[in-house]
Amino acid sequence: MKFLKNTKLVTGSALIVTGLTFLGIWCFRTPSREITRAELEQFAQAKALTDGRVMPTPYAGIYFVEGKHKLPGNSERVFLTTHLDEAQIKALSDQSWAKVAIPDQGVRGQWVNVLCNLLIAGVVIGVVVYQGNIGRGKNALVRERPTVSFSDVAGIEEAKGEVSEVVDFLRDPKKYQRLGGRLPKGVLLIGPPGTGKTMLAKAIACEANAHFFSVHGSDFTEVFVGVGAKRVRQLFRQAAKNKPAIIFIDEIDSVGKNRKLDTHSEHQQTINALLAAMDGFDSSQGIVVVAATNRPEDLDEALLRPGRFDRKVYVPYPDMKGRRAILQTHAAGKPIADASKALDVIAQTTPGMSGADLANLLNEAAIFSALQNATQISQTDLEAARDKVRFGKERKSMVLNQTEREMVAYHEAGHTIIHLQTQLMPPLYKVSIVPRGQALGATTLLPDEDQHLQSRQFLLEELLVLMGGR
Ligand code: ADP
Repeated sequence: MKFLKNTKLVTGSALIVTGLTFLGIWCFRTPSREITRAELEQFAQAKALTDGRVMPTPYAGIYFVEGKHKLPGNSERVFLTTHLDEAQIKALSDQSWAKVAIPDQGVRGQWVNVLCNLLIAGVVIGVVVYQGNIGRGKNALVRERPTVSFSDVAGIEEAKGEVSEVVDFLRDPKKYQRLGGRLPKGVLLIGPPGTGKTMLAKAIACEANAHFFSVHGSDFTEVFVGVGAKRVRQLFRQAAKNKPAIIFIDEIDSVGKNRKLDTHSEHQQTINALLAAMDGFDSSQGIVVVAATNRPEDLDEALLRPGRFDRKVYVPYPDMKGRRAILQTHAAGKPIADASKALDVIAQTTPGMSGADLANLLNEAAIFSALQNATQISQTDLEAARDKVRFGKERKSMVLNQTEREMVAYHEAGHTIIHLQTQLMPPLYKVSIVPRGQALGATTLLPDEDQHLQSRQFLLEELLVLMGGR
C-alpha cells in the first residue's frame, strides 16, 4: 500500500516535472517567425542566417526553408514555405548557411516508387476484373430439372390446360413445325401471390423434360447501368446451351416496368435487352420464356405484343372445388381423421385463400397435432389452423376484463342473431370470441358454393349482418 502510494507520488512528481520542463522550453524557446521570400534573400545576402535547412514537401517543387536569423544581441528562427526551381536549389546548396535535403533518390526511394506504381496498377486491374465479373455467375446457379409435375398442381385446371400445349411443343417441336405453326415464345402467368404460378412453370419444365432457369425480376436490378442487361443476355445464352429450356422470370413487373413511368436508365437498358433477347431467339429452338406477375398493368406494352409474351394465362384464386383438390394434394402423407369430411369443411370455409395459404394451413394443423402428441390430425386442429392462417395467432396473452369480454360476446351475438334471420346469406358455421390477430372475435360461414355475383337483396342482408354488431 505504502509502495503504491509512493509510486503514485513518484509518477505524479515526474509528470509535473516533465510538464514544467516542456513549459520552460516553450517559454524560453527561440521565437520563430514566418518570413517572405524577399526577406530570405535579403538575410542570405547579409550573411545573417545560420543553421539552415531546406526540406522538400510532398508537393513537387515546394520546399520548407528554415534557419536562425542573427540579430544584434539576439536571434530568431525564421521559416517559409516556397517554390524553388532547380537553379535556386543549387544556389542555396552552394551557400554555407543551409543544408539542402534533396528528395530521396536512393535505391530505397526507387523501391517505394515501384511499389506504389504496382499497387495502383493492381487496384486498376482489380476494378476492371470486378466490373467484368459483375452480373456473371448469379444465373449459373439457377439451372435445375424440377420434380414438380402437373399432378402436383391442383385446382387451376384451365391454366394447366393452356400451358399443356407448350409442354407438347417442347416435347415434339417437329409436329408443329410440319404444319407451319409457331408457338408462343413467352407465356405470362398473371395471378395473385401464392396461387401456384412458380409451381406451374416448374411443372411445364418437368413435364417437357426441359431445363429450368429461374430468376427473379429483381435479380436484374443493379446499381451499375448495363449489369441487368448483361445478366439478361447471359441468361438467354445459358438457356440456348441447354435446350430444351424454360426461362422463368418471377415478378417480371420489377424489371419490365412500363418505360413511360420508369425513366431509370438501368431499367431501360435491362428491358431493352430483354426485348432484344426475346426477338433474338426462335421458339423452334426449344426455349420458352415463362414470366409471372401479379401486376400486369405495370408491364411495358412492348413486352406484351405478339412475338413476346403473347400468351397470357390467368391463375386465379382457387374456387371451392380447386381448394378441395389443393388440400387433397397437400394432405398426402398426413394422417387426417375422417379426412374426406374434414377437408370438405375446410374447402368450404376458406374462400379467398390461395394454394400457398392452404398448404400453410395443413402444415400448421400438423404442427398443432404434433404439439398435442396426437397420432392423427383432427378437424379441430384443421379449423384452428384455418383461423390462425386467416385471422392470426390466438392472443392468449391479451387480457380482456369481464366487461370487455361481455361486449365482444354481445357484438358477435348481434351479428349472429341478425344472420339467422337472413334468407340469402350462407349458413353460419362458427362464432368465436377468442382474440386473434387484430380481431377480438370472428364469424365463419359455410357456403355451399363460391359466389361470383351478388344480388341487391344479398348485399342488403350482408349490411344488416354487419350493422348487427353495433
Ligand atoms: P406464386 O408463384 O403464384 O406466388 P407458388 O407457385 O410459389 O405461388 O406457390 C407457393 C406454394 O403454394 C407452393 O409451393 C405450393 O406448396 C402451394 N401452392 C400454390 N398453388 C398451388 C396449387 N394450385 N396446387 C398445389 N399447391 C399449390
